[in-house]
Amino acid sequence: MKAIVFVEQRDGNIKKSSCEAIHAAASRFGSCTAVVIGPDLGDAYAGLGAYGASKVIAVTGDGLENYSVTAYAKAFSGVVQELGADVVLFSATAMAKDLAPRVAIRLDAALASDCTELTVQGDEVIATRPVYAGKAFITVTLATPVKIFSLRPNVFTIGETSDAQAEVEKRAPDLSDDDFVVRVVETKMASGRKDVVEADVIVSGGRGMGAPENWRLIEELADVLDAATGASRAVVDAGWRPHAEQVGQTGKTVAPSLYIACGISGAIQHLAGMSSSKCIVAINKDPEAPIFKVADYGIIGDVMEVLPALTNEIKSVVGK
Ligand SMILES: Cc1cc2nc3c(=O)[nH]c(=O)nc-3n(C[C@H](O)[C@H](O)[C@H](O)COP(=O)(O)OP(=O)(O)OC[C@H]3O[C@@H](n4cnc5c(N)ncnc54)[C@H](O)[C@@H]3O)c2cc1C
Repeated sequence: MKAIVFVEQRDGNIKKSSCEAIHAAASRFGSCTAVVIGPDLGDAYAGLGAYGASKVIAVTGDGLENYSVTAYAKAFSGVVQELGADVVLFSATAMAKDLAPRVAIRLDAALASDCTELTVQGDEVIATRPVYAGKAFITVTLATPVKIFSLRPNVFTIGETSDAQAEVEKRAPDLSDDDFVVRVVETKMASGRKDVVEADVIVSGGRGMGAPENWRLIEELADVLDAATGASRAVVDAGWRPHAEQVGQTGKTVAPSLYIACGISGAIQHLAGMSSSKCIVAINKDPEAPIFKVADYGIIGDVMEVLPALTNEIKSVVGK
């Protein structure tokens, strides 16, 4: 099967989750072609060979420096058709949630989104994906000739990297103003911190933090662990934290190596966004809080006391 991976970049920097998708494709289909749309950076993307891409197609042109869902969908679908790919992989990022369905329509392809496993059996690609807000998992196969899957970030690994360099080919699609129906005109960083979707460690706070000014305790621990900061919906709705940090059913889905939930009760809608984290630590003063049912480690106590003690202890271990 011929596999293509859509690779997401910002200012020329490749998202880690796209590297996970490349490794997932190369390890399951033997090889894959990575397609990057954006500014013309010469052979800068050859390094994607390290994750298993045998070839990189760099798609450039006027207006493609910045994301435009309509233009990207047309340009990317064109490359998939030209190469005659059977399988297309995205990382299930915010961009892919926007872009992948439009690509699926253009290619008359079925799409399975937010997959947590992908296996190949003969001519069949079997994907596992969560349903009912993560309460159950289903396995699906797609019946269309071109099959599209988006992979949940941080669930698939980047594997062993090599020093292989991929051959880079360029494409300059024929696009007109009409193809740029939607354009990104400005990007503002919500905070200087990492995006929760990309982060390997997240320190997340809920209403049990008591007040927005207490977030310095979350930030101090996050600084020591080089972590992103997350939040429950209760505190986002209260205006304590930006929506970009919200984890859960109506927020972001995360799967970090370590998720530290501070003063979060563990409502089902919150668990929907973080229960596939590899290790969950919960700090809550209520021993009956539902978060303890999914936690690998639980600390029953007041966040105002536990967090500074934990931060100091970790500081002494990591030497920060
Ligand atoms: C359709 C829908 C979608 C939703 N989507 C989301 C979503 O995406 N994300 C999300 O998070 N929620 C979502 N919710 C809301 C969800 O149901 C909960 O209301 C919310 O998650 C509760 O947030 P919380 O845990 O911070 O607050 P609470 O439920 O109020 O919990 C606070 C916790 O802090 C503990 N605590 C209090 N003081 C301390 C202290 N000093 N030290 C230690 N622990 C303390 C308490 O014991 C309690 O367990 C959604 C709800 C609906 C209906």
